Parts: sequence; C-alpha cells; structure tokens
Amino acid sequence: MSRIVYVNGEYVPEEEAKVSIFDRGFLFADAVYEVTAVLDGKILEWEGHVNRLERSLGELGMTMPVTRDELLEIHRELIRRNTLDQGGIYLQVTRGVADRDFAFPKDTPETLVLFTQARNLTDPKDGIKVISAPDIRWQRRDIKTVQLLAPSMTKMLAKKAGKDDAWMVEDGYVTEGTSNNAYIVTEDGTIVTRNLSNSILHGITRAAVLKLVAEQGIKLEERPFTVEEAKKAKEAFFTAATAFVCSVLEVDNVTIGDGKPGPIATRLNDIYIEEARKAAI
Ligand code: PLP
Repeated sequence: MSRIVYVNGEYVPEEEAKVSIFDRGFLFADAVYEVTAVLDGKILEWEGHVNRLERSLGELGMTMPVTRDELLEIHRELIRRNTLDQGGIYLQVTRGVADRDFAFPKDTPETLVLFTQARNLTDPKDGIKVISAPDIRWQRRDIKTVQLLAPSMTKMLAKKAGKDDAWMVEDGYVTEGTSNNAYIVTEDGTIVTRNLSNSILHGITRAAVLKLVAEQGIKLEERPFTVEEAKKAKEAFFTAATAFVCSVLEVDNVTIGDGKPGPIATRLNDIYIEEARKAAI
C-alpha cells in the first residue's frame, strides 16, 4: 500500500504527488523543513517544531503557508490516513514556483509538502560509531534549510569508513552530527554540549533533554568541545527528533567508556520517551 502524502492542500497517493520543476526548493534549495516524531499515533514536541519552522521561514523572508492549527490538522490527518503508530512526519515549505532567477520572486505562494515515514522509535538502541570530519556547511546552520548536500557528503565519508555518522569539526571544535546534536559526559559526570549559535541547529530534542538534565540535577556545560575531549569522555551521545537520545560508542576508532551504551544516555532516553509520550498531542 502506498502512502498518502500532502501537497499544497491535497491528500494524494505518493505516486501522484507532483511539484513543478520550477519550484525554488528544487532549483535553489530555497526551502525549510521539519521532522516531527510520532509515538502511539500522537505528535511529539509540536510547539517546538512549529516555533522553529516559523523562525526558519522568518529568517528567509517567507511566511507560514497555512495557520499553525491547520498545520497541526494536516499532521493529524496524515497520521490517520496512513495509520501511523510510530515514526516521523517530514514537512517542507519552499518559496514556491517561479522562473529561474537568483532574486526572490514576489507574492509567490509557498509550496507545502508533508509525508510520513513509519519507523520503530522505542526499541532499545545499540549505539553508533562516528568519525570526525571537517564541517563544510554554510554559516546559518540555525536555519533548518533543505541544503543538505554537505551533511549528506559528510555522512558518506562515515559510511565509507564503515561507521554510522560523522561529528563535524570547525576551528578545532565539534559542531554537531550530520543530523543531530552532539554531547559528551566528562569524568565527573558533567554533560557538555555546544552552546546555541548560528554554528548549529537548535535541536528541539536538545531543548527538551536539557530540561530533563536540569530536573535530574545533572551538571551541564554548554560550550564547544574537541574531538580529543570526546575520545577521553566517560560517555558520548546525540539527540534528534526520531532518535531521541542515542549513545555514541566510538569516535575516530577510539572506544568511549566501556564501548556499551552509557548509563546517562540510557536514562535520559527512557525519561525523555516517558515525558514526551505524556505531552504528545
Ligand atoms: N542538528 C542537525 C544538523 C540536524 O539536522 C538535526 C535534525 O535534523 C538536529 C541537530 C536535531 O534536531 P531535532 O532534535 O530538532 O531533531
């Protein structure tokens, strides 16, 4: 059975979904996106994702193509039509269709596309192995644009090395994973993660997890850290909307801790799932 997807006001089978070749998302990567997790058929972190979407659009001089309530209803309708229990909903807003020109077109309606991806999100996780690699992305990583070629190429470096992902490095410090935020735990149990700036995406899971970190009384330092610090860490992990909290077991072939998912990441993942489930809508 094919998925039912949403394109500019219509719910259609995925084979019938069409966007113009003149769409600026296609020609210029002139578009932003969100990925929102679904558990038990309900949406996690809705407010966070829709707030970030509005911010990303605003930074690029675009507006929401539908209201927040309408957007929530589209998410819910896609969950219903695809009987989605666990997975993610991908949403993309582009600047719309216009003849090719570097200047932004005026008064062009945005293109809005959403689709579901079914995936088990709650099975125990094995943890991943990462390499470090130069961060070759642009300087506005705080905007969630669809310009994903640089992280995609970087992910392929990791795959070619037989690993799962890359932690990207700029000026000697880790920025983030190719599609996630990066953390280490020091010998004294302090969690270290890069502070928010234009250098990284402001993860919605990061914000939720850091709230839990404070509630749990775990020490936190928001500052850049190096690959060398990561190699000596007691634990390392990452966060992302459809991965929650997941351990990093190896950095550049160096085993972190005992090479198994660490207690802090495992605990945070369990608490996160419990809390996010309660707040799901
Ligand atoms: N950093 C980058 C570069 C990402 O692409 C993502 C998610 O796609 C994240 C961090 C994690 O953000 P979130 O927790 O909102 O999924």
